[in-house]
Amino acid sequence: MRAASGWANQLEGRTIPTGGYFGTKTLSYTVREPVGVVGAIVPWNSPLMITVWKLAALLAAGCTVVIKPSEETPQSALLLALLAQEAGFPDGVINVVTGYGNEVGRALCEHPDVAKISFTGSPEAGREIQRTAGVLFKRVALELGGKSPQIVFDDASFDDALRGCTLGLFANQGQVCAAGSRILVQRSLAERFGAALAEAAQAVNVGDPREPGVQMGPVAKKAQFDRVNRYIQLGIDQGATLLAGGVSAPKKGWFVRPTIFANARNDMEIARDEIFGPVGTLITFDSEDEAIALANDSSYGLAATVWTRDLVKAHRVAAAVKAGAVGINCWSPLDANLPWGGVKTSGIGREGGFSGALAYTEEKVITVLLPA
Ligand code: NAD
Repeated sequence: MRAASGWANQLEGRTIPTGGYFGTKTLSYTVREPVGVVGAIVPWNSPLMITVWKLAALLAAGCTVVIKPSEETPQSALLLALLAQEAGFPDGVINVVTGYGNEVGRALCEHPDVAKISFTGSPEAGREIQRTAGVLFKRVALELGGKSPQIVFDDASFDDALRGCTLGLFANQGQVCAAGSRILVQRSLAERFGAALAEAAQAVNVGDPREPGVQMGPVAKKAQFDRVNRYIQLGIDQGATLLAGGVSAPKKGWFVRPTIFANARNDMEIARDEIFGPVGTLITFDSEDEAIALANDSSYGLAATVWTRDLVKAHRVAAAVKAGAVGINCWSPLDANLPWGGVKTSGIGREGGFSGALAYTEEKVITVLLPA
């Protein structure tokens, strides 16, 4: 909120020199106008953070909003709206409607007074929203999923890469769009790195997150537990080597064991689909070219990480990888001042930073005739 509020008086226009109008001089300038009412549709993972990313930028641009939180996690958006009211926001600026995506979400997308839909969620829902918005010429921003590669070269700092890969796999139980779930590791390092990652996975303290010392809680819901287990079974059935974890039995709480697969191929489902759970898939490569080809052989393009001490190579690979954000020797360096978003199935548009605020404006050009 603090970072985005700074954009409010910096969304400036331009003055543009032209050849005039039928021989008379003119002055042309542009203004950045708010796009209008925004429909903000939010998923269940990190619901407050994602709501605030949208809210802060669109308020800075002068828009109003109807927030549609996930049916799984409506409470934080409702509380936020109450706090906004208490803080003195005029009624009607920040609105929340709760309900299911295919009813309330759809109604928001079809509403003639909504100028833009800012959506974060699955590619399936994103595709439907874009279809609706396309017919009605609404603006859309789609922040969808990912299957982000972490490319570990054999000249990387082993410990840094291990720490970064562990974080990228297991933060928020892997229910992170930017999760670094495809670990591409150079052959000479593959066995040692796989073993260390498996050890790190086994060392994660899974349990009730209210207990001191617990590092990982349960996944969010039964459907997610079933989905993650289904993928783990698929990985085993398709012949990847299980180094840690495995299918988890249901307990009180939907706890999934941190799981590492090695010797996977990039055409396996565990390497292609977004699992959205604590599951890492290791794939071995020999050359830089092969690493880039593997990284880009994905329908997604949200984030990527390059682990190497060779900075020339790091920049070369960062330029070649098709993704919205690349971290060099750091996994997913999110910051309110940086743009965030994907390419390919990972979505359209950017949130965050100047690009994020600009995305809630339209450029209008005004020309005035200046007779002598
Ligand atoms: P989801 O697509 O099922 O639901 C997201 C939101 O869209 C919910 O509020 C839902 O009610 C609504 N919705 C569903 N169908 C709709 C429709 N037809 N019309 C309008 N609204 C509809 O996603 P989810 O399961 O809540 O979240 C997980 C997904 O979100 C993952 O794929 C994850 O990668 C993605 N995600 C992406 C980012 C990012 O920044 N790229 C961040 C977080 C989550």
